[in-house]
Amino acid sequence: MDAKVDKLNLVGLPERGLAEFFARLGEKPFRARQVLQWIHQRGAVDFSSMTDLSKGLRERLDELVEIRLPEVLSEHRSEDGTVKWLFASGSGQAVEAVFIPEPDRGTLCISSQVGCAMDCSFCATGAQGFNRNLTADEIVGQVCHASRMLPRRANELSAVTNVVFMGMGEPLANYRNLLPALDLLISDFAYGLSRRRITVSTSGIVPQIERLGDDCNVSLAVSLHAANDELRNELVPINRIHPIEELLEACWRYASKRANRFITFEYVMLKDVNDGPADAGQLVRLLANRPAKVNLIPFNPFPGTRYERSSPEAVFAFQERLRARGLVATTRKTRGDDISAACGQLAGKVSDRIRVRLSEKNRRVAAS
Ligand code: SAH
Ligand code: SF4
Repeated sequence: MDAKVDKLNLVGLPERGLAEFFARLGEKPFRARQVLQWIHQRGAVDFSSMTDLSKGLRERLDELVEIRLPEVLSEHRSEDGTVKWLFASGSGQAVEAVFIPEPDRGTLCISSQVGCAMDCSFCATGAQGFNRNLTADEIVGQVCHASRMLPRRANELSAVTNVVFMGMGEPLANYRNLLPALDLLISDFAYGLSRRRITVSTSGIVPQIERLGDDCNVSLAVSLHAANDELRNELVPINRIHPIEELLEACWRYASKRANRFITFEYVMLKDVNDGPADAGQLVRLLANRPAKVNLIPFNPFPGTRYERSSPEAVFAFQERLRARGLVATTRKTRGDDISAACGQLAGKVSDRIRVRLSEKNRRVAAS
C-alpha cells in the first residue's frame, strides 16, 4: 500500500471503469469482464497468465497498468479457525482484515480507513485518530488477498461468503472509495456476493445512509450503543450532529427501499454505562415494531480505556429484556481471542505490535 506509484492499479476498478479503460485502448468492452475474472476469481498476479488476451494486449497492459495487492505484514491463525491479516498502509501504520469461519458461512471483516475521525469514546480505532482513507484497491485488496489465501470450498468461488465493513474506519466517511469496492463485491465477474451478504456498519452519518440506500442498498448495521441522546452524544459524538431520531428515520427509510430488510443495531455493552434495565426499556421503545435486530457486543477493553466489559449475566439479562418485548436480539460471540481478532477493536494492541515490528524492520534495513 505504498503511495509512490504511477501505474493504474486494476484491483479497485469495477467493470464500468475497466470497460472505459479498454475503450481508450481501442479494445472491446468485454475485455473488462475477462480481466475482472482473471484478477478476482482466478487469482492472476500478472497479465502474462491471461491466456485469452492477445500477446500484444498483454504486453500493453503490462506497460500501462498493474495488479497490486496490499503488502501483507503478518498473518495470524487462531485455534478456532479465525485468520487475521495486517496490511501495511504507509507511514508505519497498518490496517487489518479478519476472516471468521462458521459452519454455514465465512465472514471477512475489512477496514475502510487508516484510523477514524469519529472519536467514539469506547473505540481503539477512534483513540488512534484519523490518518487517511483507504483507496478502493486497498479495500478490495483485503478481500482479494483473503480469497486467495483461504481454501476453496466445493462449488464456491472462495471461502468468503460474507463481507462486513466492521474493521477499522467509518466506511460512510469514505463513500467515494466504498462505492467502487461494493460494486466489485457484488459483480458476478468479481466476487458475486448478494447485497444481503455485504454489511456496511456505520456510526450514523445520515446523509450517506440516504445515498447508500439509493446507490447500493447493501445490508446496513448501525452502531447505536445508547438509547438516549445524552448518553449517545458522549459515546458516539456524531450523534451531536445527527441525533437518534433523525438517524432512526433514515434507517427506516433505508429498510423500506427493499422488501424484508432489517437494520442491525449494534450495541456495545459497557458496565454501568448503558447496560441497565432502564437502558433496555428505552431501546425497546425506539426499536419495537420496526424492521430492527439488535446485536449486543461484549466490550473489548484496550489500554487506557475508561470503560469495562459488562458481566455475562448483565449481557444475558439485557438480551432477555429485549426478547421479552418482542425484539430480535443476539449477542456477538468473541472469536479469535488468542490472536486479538475481535471485530471493531482492531487497532490498539495491534498497532503497538506493528510499531515494534516496523521499527525492527527499519533497524534491519538501516543496518544492512
Ligand atoms: N465505524 C463503523 C464500523 C467499524 S467499528 C462503526 O462504528 O459502525 C465495528 C463495530 O465495533 C461498531 O459497532 C463499533 O461501535 C464496535 N466497537 C468499536 N470499539 C469497540 C470495542 N472496544 N469493543 C466492542 N465493540 C467495539
Ligand atoms: Fe470510528 Fe466506528 Fe470506532 Fe466510532 S466505533 S471511532 S465510527 S471505527
